Amino acid sequence: MKLKPLRLDAESIQKLIHILGTHQYEVLGPVKDGPAVHWGPVASIDDLASGWRSSTSPGRYRAEPSGDNALFGAANGADSCKRYFHSPEARLFSAKRDNGAFHIIQEQPKPRRFAFLGIRACDLAGVRLQDRVLLQDRYADEFYQANRGDALFIAVHCSESLDTCFCASMDSGPRAKGADIALTERSGHEFLAEAGSPEGASLLSELGASPAPPEWMKESQAATDACASSQTRRVEWRSARSVIDQNFDSPHWDRVAARCLNCANCTSSCPTCFCINTEDRSDLSLHTAERVRVWDSCFTQSFSYIHGGSVRFSPKARYRQWLSHKLARWQDQFGTPGCTGCGRCIVWCPAGIDITQEYAAVQSGSRGDNSNGNLH
Ligand code: SF4
Ligand code: SF4
Repeated sequence: MKLKPLRLDAESIQKLIHILGTHQYEVLGPVKDGPAVHWGPVASIDDLASGWRSSTSPGRYRAEPSGDNALFGAANGADSCKRYFHSPEARLFSAKRDNGAFHIIQEQPKPRRFAFLGIRACDLAGVRLQDRVLLQDRYADEFYQANRGDALFIAVHCSESLDTCFCASMDSGPRAKGADIALTERSGHEFLAEAGSPEGASLLSELGASPAPPEWMKESQAATDACASSQTRRVEWRSARSVIDQNFDSPHWDRVAARCLNCANCTSSCPTCFCINTEDRSDLSLHTAERVRVWDSCFTQSFSYIHGGSVRFSPKARYRQWLSHKLARWQDQFGTPGCTGCGRCIVWCPAGIDITQEYAAVQSGSRGDNSNGNLH
């Protein structure tokens, strides 16, 4: 039987954290550490970034006092949950010299069991996109699989958008889809809790909470609808393939390249970017060595290095590659855009480059005179 939506309070959230621990989950939630809110271990509701909100604009992030005591007031902190599933660095194998021979020690990924408490719609969509690439394509990534396998998601629907959010136009939010449990935080530490999976329903039944008043569902929907309507940024991604193809030589690529530092902040902060490189490292005595996998970025010149040089030598070619992949070529490869509208690439770009504005400028269709298709 389907579990009816429940009414929770702060004590129920505390109990839920405790129950997750007894089920051997590593509980992570939005925590305030230094100047930012980001994902961190949560042993009690006191660890949550209660009373803080995120404030963003192009090239700017601040955690600010929210003026209330909401447990989940800070949307879209500094990071998504990407680094927990798709580690920034993973050792693939190591080698040891022993009696004149080398022994190879294969690294076995250790399964983790994460519970993300307070994940937002856009970041859940990011997990789905990474699943599509790293689990559901021809080859599953065993490191991603070990981290991701048993993860549980307790989402919070967004009732307020940040200045940089555009999830509504990307069809990924602000109402969270695919969570095990979806929470709507109301004032006064009250929550509407909806089960989205058998695991979520089973956890909620352990709380012994009472059913939520029927009007709470309507109010929750109205809050996320209002949040969607308040977003001023948007991307018309459905036409992106033809827009990008028709504007390959747009002079706007030169304009944005003149501002882009090629720092790769956008790809590091993006919940869907997945590119990697491998590095071989040895110690000074030459007795041990290891091969590690590290995050890479299409913004580095070395990323497209093949024999003789880089395919994408200029900053213009690299920015165009990134935006084209996010909005157009990802659709060719995986059937959806590779962007969830979380806005982090806008926030964490030191030059304040804004994917929604750059795409709109390209879309406006002004074509330059460099029509020879030259990548450089
Ligand atoms: S777009 Fe911004 S964040 Fe991305 S590489 Fe360029 S300067 Fe860095
Ligand atoms: S491209 Fe930018 S807005 Fe889109 S998912 Fe990545 S970081 Fe978020």
